[in-house]
Amino acid sequence: MSLKNQVQLITYVDRLSNGDLRQLHQLLDEEFDGLFGGVHLLPFFNPIDGEDAGFDPIDHTEVDKRVGSWDDVANIGKKYDVMADLIVNHISAQSPVFQDVLEKGSDSEYFELIMTKEKVFGKNASQADINKIYRPRPTPCFTPMVCQTGETINVWTTFTDNQIDIDVTGKHGQIYLNSILDTFEQNNIKFIRLDAAGYAIKKAGTNCFMLDETFDFINALSAQANERDMSCLVEIHSYYKTQIEIAKRCEAVYDFALPPLVLHTLFNNDAHALYNWLSIAPRNCVTVLDTHDGIGIVDVGPEGDKPGLLTPEQIDTLVETIHSNSNGQSRLATGAAASNVDLYQVNCTYFDALNGNEQDYLLARAIQFFAPGIPQVYYSGVLGLKNDMTLLANTQVGRDINRPYIDDTTLRMALESDFFASMQVLITLRNSHPAFNGKFSISLLDSNLSMNWCLANEAIEFVLNVEKHTGLINMIEAGEISQSIEIKDNKIKYI
Ligand code: BGC
Repeated sequence: MSLKNQVQLITYVDRLSNGDLRQLHQLLDEEFDGLFGGVHLLPFFNPIDGEDAGFDPIDHTEVDKRVGSWDDVANIGKKYDVMADLIVNHISAQSPVFQDVLEKGSDSEYFELIMTKEKVFGKNASQADINKIYRPRPTPCFTPMVCQTGETINVWTTFTDNQIDIDVTGKHGQIYLNSILDTFEQNNIKFIRLDAAGYAIKKAGTNCFMLDETFDFINALSAQANERDMSCLVEIHSYYKTQIEIAKRCEAVYDFALPPLVLHTLFNNDAHALYNWLSIAPRNCVTVLDTHDGIGIVDVGPEGDKPGLLTPEQIDTLVETIHSNSNGQSRLATGAAASNVDLYQVNCTYFDALNGNEQDYLLARAIQFFAPGIPQVYYSGVLGLKNDMTLLANTQVGRDINRPYIDDTTLRMALESDFFASMQVLITLRNSHPAFNGKFSISLLDSNLSMNWCLANEAIEFVLNVEKHTGLINMIEAGEISQSIEIKDNKIKYI
């Protein structure tokens, strides 16, 4: 990957910087100066406010005019590595293409693009085949829709019924994906997030998730992106061993096991599970603690009778601790308690999951920044914001608990806080120390988890004391400690 090995910001355009790409650019250059080498702009396509906060594009090649233009995106891309979503699995039910299908039924030239139950299973799908489909959400997999011709088509709807799955293997699928790749290339996008890529290929008799054919599809798409000088990040939540396999076969994956494991470590004063994972975790990854989605649980869970990174009991305790730390707020936003596409994610800010404990939050970020991979920090996480219960109450969308709209006053106050100053120190260190370009090693001795990076005669190590909840960062030159930073009593101090 030809990306900067620096921290990246994850943000919506419409929920920060007054919903204006140019103001966001200014924020990156000024208040966030030196903090971010890249930025993941969550869907800014037309429209930003469909059923799934932009993940249901009517036109994937158009910037929603309310946030700006492609020129604004391209300008950000001159200095920052811009990551954009390629929503490979579905389009909006309002898209002209799908509207054409609703009008003309199977006579529409775009009928080939739309994924239906019949296309995969034929006229008489067996229940056994349908039951095999991997489906971690409560809504129906197929949505019957009546066309103006009188035909009923059972549209494959992996997510909401406004997100119409497409057949990426056909002629129109290829044209569609190519048009997005071309647009991205022309506008300085460097990094493509292959959204929900695991569901892209469907095949009767399988679970229709992460098949060999899916890898072939991802690899072919990545090759097309590479030819245009862009890299691909595959967004898949799955069993950890599957994730390791995916990482071997793809350019980059997320480390979605990290967020729950860091919480488990700090909740239980026990770093064993984290240590075990980081010893084997993919190195070609992007790390996160918080994103626009919830905290993933399947990523640390078992698969059938194969053990996960945490036991079912440990997972129960983890989820219950998040709920009690957030004073029950996350419970109101998670699972069936609110409208959610993903039952297996706990919706809560990372800060509230840690009971608003700044010391633990800074330790969590230090663990993330020392873990292998390019670190990304979500906009509410960099500002240390709390759960947005008002937004949740207004929309009843579970994930809105951590998708705040930030006004200027809230932004100013957050930027002036001691918390933000501490985040600046940590992020700047991660961006600037040369050893992060070297070799990673990890050890666990009694209560001390030690994460090290070494390049030639420079090294940097982070030692987490899980009993005391303190952290020490040592910078080492030619074997001697040259400088140290302590994370103690909610502060980061050079000592
Ligand atoms: C995104 C979600 C979205 C889903 C469907 C994901 O994995 O992160 O926010 O709801 O894809 O596009």
